[in-house]
Amino acid sequence: MEEKLDTKLTIKKELKTMPITEPEKRDIVRKALLDMMICRKCYARNPPGATKCRRCRSTRLRPKRKERAG
Ligand SMILES: [Zn+2]
Repeated sequence: MEEKLDTKLTIKKELKTMPITEPEKRDIVRKALLDMMICRKCYARNPPGATKCRRCRSTRLRPKRKERAG
């Protein structure tokens, strides 16, 4: 009984402090960060599909993605 509770607590602690170690998850996070749209006016970050800035409603968004062709 006590052992079980202890394990539960440990898992809870680990979840709180655990960095993203799984490569798949890390890739998703990195991709999400790179796919962001940055507002040219107020530099707010917008979701990848955004056409308008959620902060100043400007349509002058640029992708943050840095692609290296070749
Ligand atoms: Zn903006």
